[in-house]
Amino acid sequence: MSIKTVKIYCAKCRTLLYHYQKRGTGHLLKCFQERILKDYTHTLGYCPNCEQQFARETMIRGKPANKIIQGKVYFKK
Ligand SMILES: [Zn+2]
Repeated sequence: MSIKTVKIYCAKCRTLLYHYQKRGTGHLLKCFQERILKDYTHTLGYCPNCEQQFARETMIRGKPANKIIQGKVYFKK
């Protein structure tokens, strides 16, 4: 499975949120916190610019992850 570093942006105001090591080529459903390389947010799950909530903290297979709220972010390679 391929691992790529992608940049994740707020869909509303286009602010950069994370540099993230994404696996595979599918949709972005969650971000494992250990794979967030750079975090530009101040409050977990909220855009630092427009303050829209884009994710909720959860546990997936015993690891902390940020579950993405659909349509709130987009990513680029
Ligand atoms: Zn925003």
